[in-house]
Amino acid sequence: MAKSEKCSFCGRGANEVRLLMPGRDGCICDECAEQAYLLSEEYLHKKRKKNPKWAISREELPKPDQIKAFLDEYVIGQDDAKRYLAVSVYNHYKRIMQASDDSDDVEIEKSNIIMVGPTGTGKTLLAKTIARLLKVPFTIVDATVLTEAGYVGEDIESILTRLLQVADYDVEAAERGIVFIDEIDKIARKSDNPSITRDVSGEGVQQGLLKLLEGSIVNVPPQGGRKHPEQKMIAVNTKNILYICGGAFDGIERKIAMRLNTHVVGYNGGGSNSRVDRDNLLQYIAPQDLKAYGLIPEIIGRLPILTYLQPLDREALRRILVEPKNSIIKQYVKLFEMDGVKLTFDDDMLDYVVDKAIEFKLGARGLRSIVETVMMDAMYETPSSNKKKLHITRSYAEKKLEKAKLLAV
Ligand code: ADP
Repeated sequence: MAKSEKCSFCGRGANEVRLLMPGRDGCICDECAEQAYLLSEEYLHKKRKKNPKWAISREELPKPDQIKAFLDEYVIGQDDAKRYLAVSVYNHYKRIMQASDDSDDVEIEKSNIIMVGPTGTGKTLLAKTIARLLKVPFTIVDATVLTEAGYVGEDIESILTRLLQVADYDVEAAERGIVFIDEIDKIARKSDNPSITRDVSGEGVQQGLLKLLEGSIVNVPPQGGRKHPEQKMIAVNTKNILYICGGAFDGIERKIAMRLNTHVVGYNGGGSNSRVDRDNLLQYIAPQDLKAYGLIPEIIGRLPILTYLQPLDREALRRILVEPKNSIIKQYVKLFEMDGVKLTFDDDMLDYVVDKAIEFKLGARGLRSIVETVMMDAMYETPSSNKKKLHITRSYAEKKLEKAKLLAV
């Protein structure tokens, strides 16, 4: 036990503090311990700043075509979105470098991006893939869980909490990070008449997001949530954070079609109308359509880069199955290889999987669950067998899917 019953740092006795912790030659009270913790955090934070993980050099800076080439390895098609993303990320790097160069005669503005496209076409995949390439903290958040402060759900600041966590609480690194906000369409204004009820997960969130999208200092709870009301806030400057938003915007084609029709009638009433590709209206998307869908103009203004993703056709789905660097098929081959089994597939079987994915209307997401169902029994049995080879045919796949369907009924 310690010699003195007083705190060795502030000199207060046991009855003056809440807790006195004894050490070898003295004591420390709870308040001094907390102070010591904060000081050491600050010191360690300064040391962390030099973390090479987040260091970018001009030589390492990938050019837009190199960024796109990298994306091509993992994501099939979606060339337009890839090009927009590559340029935007490249400019983001340049902005960060300009900020650290202090040569601020011309300030480069942020180029936040919004990607519109049906679900399962690769929006999240694009964002995740770009994160592999980048040496900046990156996080994905789902806009559906966000609500205005004070309502059930997550506060908008929680987005920055995630970024801080990814950056190991290196505030400087977080301030240069990239945030992917998924399902941005779900916070569209719910009705045209905002006065009926408070729209706490729609327009309210959009208003809150504005603060993050533009450059401002936001106080962020380091542990997130509202469970720790006593936690010390960390000030984060959002000026250099790049936001990539994604959303399916179901039904936005109607808004686009309406605008295109008015346009044609308004100008020369024909002619150009025939050039409109009615099957893929998304390619004509413009900021006005997002407004018609229920995003407030201030938000649209802060997402100046608008791009779209194509629905995936049969050919794209077939390529997705085998071509990407970590394609579903390559993943299964690897899994079996770890058990010493050489796994191969009939081309016919792959076509069948694509057919089923189209039939189930599951897009690329369905490919994985179909292959998983087909492979389940083999994955269960092969590790304990002496098999060195396994070849999956179409009829094998048909049988397995059939069985799964019977079991499901
Ligand atoms: P969303 O557009 O809804 O964000 P995701 O990016 O989450 O879609 O896609 C779901 C899954 O489908 C991905 O994990 C990936 O396996 C596959 N996928 C979707 N689109 C593509 C694509 N263009 N290239 C390769 N894989 C894709």
